[in-house]
Amino acid sequence: MFEWSEEHQMIRTAVRDFVEKEVRPHREELEHGDLPPYDLLRKLYTTFGMDSMAAASFDRRIAREEAGDTGRDGGSGDSGMTMLPIIELCRCSPGMVTAMGVSVGLTSAAIMSKGTIAQKKRWARDILTMEKIGAWAITEPASGSDAFGSMQSTARIDGDEFILNGSKTFITNGPFADTIVFICKLDEGNPPAERRVVQFVLDRGMPGLEQSKPLRKMGMHSSPTGMLFLDDVRVGYDRLLGESLDAYSGKQGREASKSTFTIERTGVAAMALGIIERCLELCVPYAKERVQFGQPIGNYQLIQLKLAKMEVARLNVENLVFRTLEMSAAGKALGLAEASAMKLYSAQVATEVALEAVQLFGGNGYMAEYEVEQLARDAKVLQIYAGTDEIQITHIARALLA
Ligand SMILES: Cc1cc2nc3c(=O)[nH]c(=O)nc-3n(C[C@H](O)[C@H](O)[C@H](O)COP(=O)(O)OP(=O)(O)OC[C@H]3O[C@@H](n4cnc5c(N)ncnc54)[C@H](O)[C@@H]3O)c2cc1C
Repeated sequence: MFEWSEEHQMIRTAVRDFVEKEVRPHREELEHGDLPPYDLLRKLYTTFGMDSMAAASFDRRIAREEAGDTGRDGGSGDSGMTMLPIIELCRCSPGMVTAMGVSVGLTSAAIMSKGTIAQKKRWARDILTMEKIGAWAITEPASGSDAFGSMQSTARIDGDEFILNGSKTFITNGPFADTIVFICKLDEGNPPAERRVVQFVLDRGMPGLEQSKPLRKMGMHSSPTGMLFLDDVRVGYDRLLGESLDAYSGKQGREASKSTFTIERTGVAAMALGIIERCLELCVPYAKERVQFGQPIGNYQLIQLKLAKMEVARLNVENLVFRTLEMSAAGKALGLAEASAMKLYSAQVATEVALEAVQLFGGNGYMAEYEVEQLARDAKVLQIYAGTDEIQITHIARALLA
């Protein structure tokens, strides 16, 4: 049975103190999009030595790969230590986790899984240590859930180079990213449905690459989201992940992009847990203190039902997170269907809990000052990004019926 160890609890308390001292005082600016989250995230990294640990782990892995050992690295240490900052930051500002996760999780994972050693050294190390910010760009104005089928962005071969064109939207960190993994189809004159899906790494400021300002949105304001426009961006093979088109034969390109989906989906469960925990933490004292009809509202069974359901959600999501940690410790990977089931459930209950928290607070719940309003807006996107609820359902059902 998995439980948070004493060491986990100590780290958790320390991260919580950091969030209260360093992040919460900036909540207003973060939540109005006035303050990008990156300097605070870097401070988190340096305070807890996450930057030096990431660098050391990267260097060990590269040394092994240079020695010809391409096997898995025997586990990435204690995954609980990775989950705790996610949970704790989500109790205050879930958008910061989105910004961090897309950079150090998705973008670096794409480079580490498909890149050559030279490419990993060139781009992934700095992202993993938070020196640079990464973005991972697959979604386009006309292709979201059907990411590959409707994809219009292209790479065309021109001698020793590729010419990239297209636009991407809803890209987390898009406005500020230093390094961008750009996913598109290789146009070899064949019909779009038959084109290979390829991945390139771009740097901020390259000729023909435009990064939009942050888009206005419903929540997750501490995570800047933007558009990317590529107009005849010229790149060499050194920017094609894997540095050879052989790495993209058959369905390899699509499979490489899909492998990031599992990482995203398990991360969402940890985010949901942070949101649910914070809702409970705010709702329980409020239910005891707020008096209506001569008694605390917590005496009413309708309010008790809300609290009880929040606690059930907390226990269930925590157990899902623990299961991931146990599997990771055993060196086992979660399958896509299971990760989808976990994401679907966690995102739905986090949204339900946060909306019920608004209801429990009554008019105060609708006011920004009481925090649950922000948590409800932030929670909603868990049901949309990293694959919508409906898409998770199709993945779960497909596995069941296969
Ligand atoms: C805040 C935020 C951050 C994001 N960050 C990134 C990022 O960093 N990088 C990136 O590439 N993308 C990112 N996205 C994009 C996100 O992954 C997409 O929005 C998501 O996959 C849904 O695509 P869509 O918006 O085009 O909706 P659509 O695919 O148009 O879906 C519209 C509706 O139709 C439903 N639907 C679609 N297909 C089916 C089907 N087969 N069966 C049943 N229902 C269906 C959907 O579930 C949804 O309800 C982000 C989005 C948001 C909101």
